[in-house]
Amino acid sequence: MRQAGRSLPGDVHALRVIWPFVPVVVALALFTIASVDVLSAVRAFVAGESQWSKGQKNAVMHLLRYGEDRNEADFQAYLSNIAVPMGDHRARIELDRDTPDDERARAGFLAGAIHPDDIAGIIRLYRNFRHVEEVDAAIRIWAEGDREIAALHEQAMVLRQLTAQPGCGVACTEPVLQGIVAIDARLTPLEYAFSHQLGKASRRVTQALTVGAAVVAVALLLSAILLSHRRLRLERRLREALAGSEERLQLAVGGSNDGLWDWDLHSGRLYFSPRCAQMLGFEPDALPQARETLLGLLHPADVNVLDDKLSAHLRRGEPYDAEFRLRTRGDGYLWVRARGRLVRGENGRVMRMAGSLTDISEHKRYEVQLFAEKERAQVTLQAIGDAVVTTDVWGRIESLNPAAEALTGWSEAEARGRPLEQVCALCEEGSQAPLRKLVALALQQRWPGVTALLAGRGGRTVAVKPSVALIRDRAAQAIGVVVVLHDVSQEREHAARLAHEASHDALTGLLNRTEFERRLAAAIARMQEAGGTHALMYLDLDQFKVVNDTCGHAAGDELIRQIAAIMRGQLRKGDTLARLGGDEFGILLEHCVAPDGERQAEALRRAVAGFRFTHRQRTFAVGASIGLVALDAGTGGVAEALSAADAACYVAKENGRNRVQVYHPKDSVVQARHGEMEWVSRVHAALAAGRFCLYAQEIVPLQGERRGGRHIELLLRMVDERNQLVPPMAFVPACERYNLMPMIDRWVVETAFAALARRRAEHGEHIALCAINLSASSLADVRFPAFVRDQAQRTGIALSGICFEITETAAIANLTQAAAFIEQMQRLGCVFALDDFGAGMASFTYLKHLPAAYLKIDGSFVRAMLDDPVNQVMVEVIQRIGHATGKKTIAEYVETEAMLARLRELGVDFAQGHHIAMPRPFASGLRQDPATIDGGQGQEALTPG
Ligand code: GH3
Ligand code: MG
Repeated sequence: MRQAGRSLPGDVHALRVIWPFVPVVVALALFTIASVDVLSAVRAFVAGESQWSKGQKNAVMHLLRYGEDRNEADFQAYLSNIAVPMGDHRARIELDRDTPDDERARAGFLAGAIHPDDIAGIIRLYRNFRHVEEVDAAIRIWAEGDREIAALHEQAMVLRQLTAQPGCGVACTEPVLQGIVAIDARLTPLEYAFSHQLGKASRRVTQALTVGAAVVAVALLLSAILLSHRRLRLERRLREALAGSEERLQLAVGGSNDGLWDWDLHSGRLYFSPRCAQMLGFEPDALPQARETLLGLLHPADVNVLDDKLSAHLRRGEPYDAEFRLRTRGDGYLWVRARGRLVRGENGRVMRMAGSLTDISEHKRYEVQLFAEKERAQVTLQAIGDAVVTTDVWGRIESLNPAAEALTGWSEAEARGRPLEQVCALCEEGSQAPLRKLVALALQQRWPGVTALLAGRGGRTVAVKPSVALIRDRAAQAIGVVVVLHDVSQEREHAARLAHEASHDALTGLLNRTEFERRLAAAIARMQEAGGTHALMYLDLDQFKVVNDTCGHAAGDELIRQIAAIMRGQLRKGDTLARLGGDEFGILLEHCVAPDGERQAEALRRAVAGFRFTHRQRTFAVGASIGLVALDAGTGGVAEALSAADAACYVAKENGRNRVQVYHPKDSVVQARHGEMEWVSRVHAALAAGRFCLYAQEIVPLQGERRGGRHIELLLRMVDERNQLVPPMAFVPACERYNLMPMIDRWVVETAFAALARRRAEHGEHIALCAINLSASSLADVRFPAFVRDQAQRTGIALSGICFEITETAAIANLTQAAAFIEQMQRLGCVFALDDFGAGMASFTYLKHLPAAYLKIDGSFVRAMLDDPVNQVMVEVIQRIGHATGKKTIAEYVETEAMLARLRELGVDFAQGHHIAMPRPFASGLRQDPATIDGGQGQEALTPG
């Protein structure tokens, strides 16, 4: 792959191919040069030998001629010719020295008539081939020749001397001349031998050079073969590598499921592999191979993405990696990822761009899902109220949600990378011991699970409930930790507030009845164990309703608040003051003997009495009636203690108010009051045991016949524990005082409606009008009308047959409320009667505002009307007023015929009483009838005035 992929510059590549031949060629060249050099030296040697022989022959010739004619010119010619072999001789002698002087040798050869250009070659040959056999033999011949030359020159000199002697004739020179001829005769074979040896040497050199040339040629051939072989082997390897790489590429492309593209930047042709077409739902060759094909398929929104990526790659060399959508053959778009790069030619010119195309639609879908999930998680984290901190497994912060930022005082940017302990400085709430190594504990799943205190950055400490969870990767390896800090301070405040509200009165902030009773119980328990005495006071404001009625409820509230503050100011720190309800307060003075208790009670009363409440320029003085009980070891319990104090308070009221009444068990009034309170528990027990029942008493018309069925009034009775009937006056005051009447009223309505329905169903009995007494407290019960409506619907009773009787006093006590109540009930169809009318002796004007259908003349007037004219007038007045206001009148307590006749005369419309009919059992929660009916009149309504 490497060789295939890398391209070498052309010159270098050629060099790599050529270089192995270079040494061979250089060797060949050197060999050739050397051969030529040697051959030319041999030739020069031969030429030198020729000059040598010629010089010697000419010298001998001129010397012999000189010997004959004794011409000086011949001798000079001899000298110049003999200089040639002698010059060669000098050169040879110089070259044979250990350190030859080349210049001297050269001068010798110059004298030896050797061409100056040949001298260097001759010297090299002489020096380098001196030991070659043929050369050596030639030189030895040459040396021998030189010795003969020296002898010749000696004879020449002798001849010269002889010729110079006067009288020396032919005979005188003849021996010398013969010697010269002899020398010449000896030289001639030497010259032949020398020439022969030189020829031999020359042939030998030629032979050697031929062999050398052949060797070099063979070497050249061998290296060429070797190189070609190596080249071929390399090429084969490259081809194999290329084929392997091609195969791998095909496998990779096939395996990756990617398509390929190849864009020729010059021709604009854009090749798509069949896989590209297949991805988009086309036939393998269906996509035209042009850039326009791509642009035509590209999603309009992605055109810029593609252009930007392309220009970034072309201009700045950034990797080309683009994600875009391509239209498929169907209507949809396919998300693809294109990766590629520029391909340059050998000269660096941009040729083409090629790369792959991957189908990433699935990946994109996951990406969208992942983004949505991440977004959801992020938004949840942002919105969540708990502080959420994430860290890596080394406990370095990675993220903080806004709640965590607020709680710790660190911003996410500041906290990131810091240790968890630095940002979330936690310590155990109880021991205050710092909680360290939180992440390590989490990793070991040993999280302490305690409530901790978090020291925020600004110095604020918050109680938190930390919880921790590991974040794991797919392989369940922990990769981080999530710490959730739940701020419990608000919950605690809330719990504390609830606890406070449960034990305190909202208006005054004092303790409430429940808490007071709890503390009283605890104090009594302590006292019963450890002895001592406490003082308990029951305080009720006098005529408080006046302020309520004249200034409004809000002013009444304000008065209660101010009185509470005054009382608190009067008490010691350890004393307990509570608002028990309405204008009633309880005070417990622990460890207080009776005289001190009385003093304290008196001081309290004086403080209240001395207070002046001002409302809109009006000033009120308020009194307080206080019942005081000394508690000691003999005190039974909370209920007993409170009822004794309440009873004493009641007596204080009875005795004229604004006073302190000390409880004495023997006091009869106190006992009466006490007895009243006992009724409360008896009423509860009777209701639970179904020991209440209803009696019915007839009401008859006095003016004319009864029309449309019976008219009755239902009367409430209780059956006591001994199965005796108890009249209402025994328990109703207690029920009113202890707010049991709403419950009882509902019981009456429910029982009456059920009985009416049953009687009608079982006996076909038709009761035209059934009167039911309502207490004052039901008038204030906003849910009462709905209750009545529901009962009517449940039993199928028509409300037009129901008459609710409310007492005059109850109606006047809150006229507006009563009027509204009556109107609301009338809309349901009910009618109303004003009961015990006349007893209140209030103003008659309010009658105009009360839309009642009936007036019931108070029984006390009726009963005494025959004996007392005033009463008779009262009856008459009421009768007239009733008619004047459009109401029918009913007289109660009719006991005799005379009374009946008088009432008829007076024009009273209806009458009821023992004379007409005794109350009869009507409906009961009892399983058996009561043994006796009480001896009372039976006319008492449930709710006395
Ligand atoms: P008495 O001297 O007999 O105590 O006469 P009183 O007017 O004080 O009457 P009583 O104590 O029987 O009744 C207290 C009244 O206080 C009854 C009710 O209308 C009124 N009341 C009860 N709770 C509140 C309250 O929270 N705020 C106000 N403003 N009035 C209340
Ligand atoms: Mg009061």
